[in-house]
Amino acid sequence: MVLADLGRKLNAALSSLSRAPVVDEKVLEALLKEICAALLESDVNVKLVSQLRQKVKAKAKAHFESGADRGKEANRKNVVQKTIFDELVHLVDPGVEPYKPKKGHPNVIMAVGLQGNGKTTTCTKLAVYYQKRGFKSCIVCADTFRAGAFDQTRQSATKAKVAYFGSYTETDPVAIAAQGVSKFKKERFEVIIVDTSGRHKQESELFEEMVQIGQAVKPDMTVLVLDASIGQAAEAQSRAFKESADFGAIIVTKMDGHAKGGGAISAVAATQTPIIFLGVGEHLTDLDRFSPQPFISKLLGMGDVQGLMEHMHDLANANPEKQKEMAKKLEEGKLSIRDWREQIQNVMNMGPISKIASMIPGLPQDILQGSDEEGSLRMKRMIYITDSMSAVELDSDGSCFLITAKDGKPEGLTWRVARVARGSGTSVREVEELLCQYRMMANMAKQAGGKNGWMQTMQKMQ
Ligand code: GDP
Repeated sequence: MVLADLGRKLNAALSSLSRAPVVDEKVLEALLKEICAALLESDVNVKLVSQLRQKVKAKAKAHFESGADRGKEANRKNVVQKTIFDELVHLVDPGVEPYKPKKGHPNVIMAVGLQGNGKTTTCTKLAVYYQKRGFKSCIVCADTFRAGAFDQTRQSATKAKVAYFGSYTETDPVAIAAQGVSKFKKERFEVIIVDTSGRHKQESELFEEMVQIGQAVKPDMTVLVLDASIGQAAEAQSRAFKESADFGAIIVTKMDGHAKGGGAISAVAATQTPIIFLGVGEHLTDLDRFSPQPFISKLLGMGDVQGLMEHMHDLANANPEKQKEMAKKLEEGKLSIRDWREQIQNVMNMGPISKIASMIPGLPQDILQGSDEEGSLRMKRMIYITDSMSAVELDSDGSCFLITAKDGKPEGLTWRVARVARGSGTSVREVEELLCQYRMMANMAKQAGGKNGWMQTMQKMQ
């Protein structure tokens, strides 16, 4: 069962609780049965599932017996839902904080893992991720075992416009790693990702090589790359690696297609190692940051305010001056069409639209119907429309497109709308729609008001 299916099943179970007229032990039992079945289908370990069941039961029972909310079914439902939410978070929470790359510091990240797990792909995804967030990022390919590994890095790094280092002639991976890291440190790179050789299985040779590379490049963080398809076997694999290379974090790849994703995540959490990202596809942007609470929140269709805020924050870090200016305009309620266009472009840079949509709490997930391509095409058309506007129009609040009656109410559209439609190859209706969306956004921004208003509004929605 892929994660979305697991999320839907958990969500359906919790919704049935909302509909139940009374909440008693029988209802709780039926609910837990559904939730546990969904978790087991996702390959979560039987023992972990049974622990979750016992804990929820014990906590809910204690609450029922306290009689604190006798007759108040809504309260009871909230308590049961919150208990289940907390226990699901606990299931994927190793209770350990991962290393966080620091700006202005050469953060060396070494990736290890078995061949085919997605290590090389993930290294480029990581470099892209950090690069987008304002870190000068690069990749060192120290995988001399797999023929074509350097070519793969070269191709994907070039596509992603990320600096890379490797060699066709040097056969010693330790030497390549040391040379690459030293070169990039001198060039003041801030995130230096070292891709190491994988093997088909856990061999002592691989572990020795990992230790030697580790000694040569002294990583700030070693990341184990694991394939989700192994499900709960992830626990054994991560323990085996931990004995040799003391890694500080894990990335679970191929979460997009595998039935056993939930099993892999919970198994890893049991080894007290934090998962930092999930690989969710073959594209360079298919990398989701992982942290327990937002993950469960998103899984249950409740949005991920933290993730969204981080995205915004990262974008702000990448261009602090611009964002300061934007915050001031927001504060004054003066967002022009040009500012709005910039925000749309920012959203497009954040990654596939469906992912961003799933982070926004309260937003119906079908609002951006169709594929990501269709979604980004819709956004691109919005950009084309604004491209056909004059500088005066872009810097305006959109009122120059409206004919206003004496009482201030809009009563028609000016000639500008038809001109923009013609220039952008769209229709008058599309331009009108865009202006209407802009006005909605500008009003929302005005109401939210202030630098933190938007964030507070979002948090209240959760
Ligand atoms: P390595 O041997 O560990 O370096 O593995 P590669 O990076 O070469 O990846 C092996 C295969 O897995 C490639 O076909 C990748 O495109 C694919 N892959 C990697 N990560 C993901 C992911 O998150 N989702 C999917 N669907 N495929 C992935």
